[in-house]
Amino acid sequence: MSAALSIESVKSQAQGLAYRNQCFIDGRFANAASGKTFDCVSPIDGKVLTQVAAGDREDVDRAVKAARAAFEDGRWSRLAPARRKKVMLRWAGLLEQHATELALLETLDMGKPIGDSSRIDIPAVINCIRWYAEAADKVYDEIAPTGDDAVAMLVREPLGVIGAVVPWNFPLLMAAWKLGPALATGNSMVVKPAEQSPLTMIRAAELASEAGLPDGVLNVVPGFGETAGQALGRHMDVDAVAFTGSGEVGKLFLKYAGESNMKRVSLECGGKTPNIIMADAPDLDAAATAAAWGIFFNQGEVCNAGSRLLVEDKIKDQVVEKVMQVAKTLRVGDPLDPATQMGAMVDSTQMERVLGYIEKGQAEGAEVKLGGKRILSDSGGYYIEPTVFDGVKNDMTIAQEEIFGPVLSTITFGDAEEAIKIGNDTIYGLAAAVWTSDIKKAHRAAKALRAGSVWINCFDAGDITTPFGGFKQSGFGRDKSLHAMEKYTELKTVWIDLS
Ligand code: NAD
Repeated sequence: MSAALSIESVKSQAQGLAYRNQCFIDGRFANAASGKTFDCVSPIDGKVLTQVAAGDREDVDRAVKAARAAFEDGRWSRLAPARRKKVMLRWAGLLEQHATELALLETLDMGKPIGDSSRIDIPAVINCIRWYAEAADKVYDEIAPTGDDAVAMLVREPLGVIGAVVPWNFPLLMAAWKLGPALATGNSMVVKPAEQSPLTMIRAAELASEAGLPDGVLNVVPGFGETAGQALGRHMDVDAVAFTGSGEVGKLFLKYAGESNMKRVSLECGGKTPNIIMADAPDLDAAATAAAWGIFFNQGEVCNAGSRLLVEDKIKDQVVEKVMQVAKTLRVGDPLDPATQMGAMVDSTQMERVLGYIEKGQAEGAEVKLGGKRILSDSGGYYIEPTVFDGVKNDMTIAQEEIFGPVLSTITFGDAEEAIKIGNDTIYGLAAAVWTSDIKKAHRAAKALRAGSVWINCFDAGDITTPFGGFKQSGFGRDKSLHAMEKYTELKTVWIDLS
């Protein structure tokens, strides 16, 4: 979607969209067994887009049975990897053909700018599926160095039925990070999209079927967390759940697994990323600009958002000034406008939550230097100004809890050692960034920071080749890269006696 397009032309494309709003089970659309639906509300204007099937235990059970049958008869799990690759490449091709439609659905459903969904989210989804398709027939098993009396093969086998439970901030991309490696390795899947943003996943499953993915291999059950999500987490015939979402719900999945069949669980949970800017950063303006984008991109609804700006005390004013300059130029508004850079919060609950944190920050003594309020309420949508706090102490609520909104907390430090101490003083460990020209300081910081990704002189860098995931309560297991395939496979030893 080109930035040169007018908002009117984007809106007229959006009006022509058809919504897939049912469960997708065993290659077919179906209503929820209960017949229940829920309103799918657009955060752009608070209006209902469509009614979506409210899947529950019975639907999850049907989906798991379909996935199990597909897995057991080998229609996908025992297909030669090169043939799986072909189907997945065809699927990526169809996703590409329908990229505009998918980008519009994503924006309407969750409120991110159309420029982001069309230039970032959907291309990343296509790239992810293509990358794992290509990997399918390029990953080898191993032979152990046993000696002449035996051959011991170490083989990776698909786990079976994978449940994927995903959040709403990058709805299709978070699902794709699981679909790519799980399908490439031959598993069957049941995906439960977030209730705030189910539309793209349902449509993507239909396209997978059109691409030739056998029935039952990919099933989608939209619905709520406590019902459909819990049913998947507790199902006795699901071999693994790959979850992305809050730490609170992540812990529930561990409990569900412990109380059911000990299914494997991988968790990608929240973050409170320290973005550490030292006085000797190579380019302070570049660092401050990246700090602004690091928190305001995707309305701050990013697990690795640079929500804590740790800045050396002697350059603090200069950096905060520049961050605010960038923030003031951001166009906040209708996500369907190609010129918009910050869209709507996903729903009214999330908006109220974020506003509550802003109030709490002030009550605890931090100063709002910029923003802090709801805007554009006449639209009926849920918009918040880019917000910058100064004078934050790391023990304040806004520095400890994940806000998941466009709210930056500025904290000062005296030297590198103190920066690392503050950076690590959190229950999370998803990512961290350090800006410095001193190579020794950079290396020491990269080692000392307890986070799954550490960026030096950049922010949020990486691509599909690099693993992504957390230390500490940011979770465990990795998405992206060949390492992601490990969590969807079992390692089997086959020892053949040659004596
Ligand atoms: P959430 O935990 O509320 O919901 C995530 C998913 O879990 C949804 O599909 C939801 O329906 C389901 N769910 C909710 N309650 C459940 C329950 N009781 N039982 C089973 N399933 C349940 O998270 P959210 O608000 O949708 O997403 C925001 C969170 O996701 C943030 O914490 C963010 O940091 C995290 N996130 C992490 C990553 C990462 O890769 N680490 C990426 C994106 C988002």
